[in-house]
Amino acid sequence: MKRLGAALVLLAVVSGCGDGTGADTTVAAPEAPVAVRPMVFNEPDPDARRGLGSSGTAYCARVKCVALTFDDGPMEDTERLLGMLAQYNAKATFFVVGRMVEEFPDLVRKEVAGGHEIANHSWSHANLAGLSDAGVRAEIQKTQDAIVRHSGYRSVLLRPPYGSSNARVAAVARSFGLPEIIWAVDPLDWRDRSSSLVARRVLSGTGNGDVVLMHDIHRTTVDAVPRILEGLAAKGYRFVTVSKLFEGTPLTPGEQYRGRTATGAR
Ligand SMILES: [Zn+2]
Repeated sequence: MKRLGAALVLLAVVSGCGDGTGADTTVAAPEAPVAVRPMVFNEPDPDARRGLGSSGTAYCARVKCVALTFDDGPMEDTERLLGMLAQYNAKATFFVVGRMVEEFPDLVRKEVAGGHEIANHSWSHANLAGLSDAGVRAEIQKTQDAIVRHSGYRSVLLRPPYGSSNARVAAVARSFGLPEIIWAVDPLDWRDRSSSLVARRVLSGTGNGDVVLMHDIHRTTVDAVPRILEGLAAKGYRFVTVSKLFEGTPLTPGEQYRGRTATGAR
């Protein structure tokens, strides 16, 4: 009950933060437990994951890619989501809230074990643009530390809650070496708790190289994921992490990105 209570408190805090997608679930979530492989620190190389290490052979320069991102977790439904992603061999990026990492560390380890990217979404889902330099630094540092402590993974990306940033936040992000990843597609899944509506918005709004914003704390969003995966796969999309999306396109810490175009970042 304590865990649920804390989660509900956070839910109240984060309402008003997102976008959405929806779908009917026609694919059963696998029941098999996720095998947690040994953690490899900073695998394979933070610079390479940020896109600094690659050249003309970048995967998403050759095939249609989309980066599905899930914010504000982990929470109970994250485990079900991981099963869905595995079924479609889809990789995603989880912008986790530090407090939730402390609450559900096993889920963060399962995200890592599934080959997904873990990224920083602040400690308390604060509006970073309203904080002092020290406040922004603490929100980012505590979350970086919690992710490493519980999963061995070092995040190389930041998404400020609500997409709310300013020159001060950008400067702090730069000092941590973190680019700010915003989004190109927002299905408003936090507001409209309809799986079919959320799925339809993602399917109609997503183009090649887009970053898509969703929230794995909402059951309706997770329910929408099989339809989204099915629909985008039918259009030839591959589901990659944000760092994979930008492979070959160096990301500058402190700068904002919404997706990858044929010629680079935007
Ligand atoms: Zn959020």
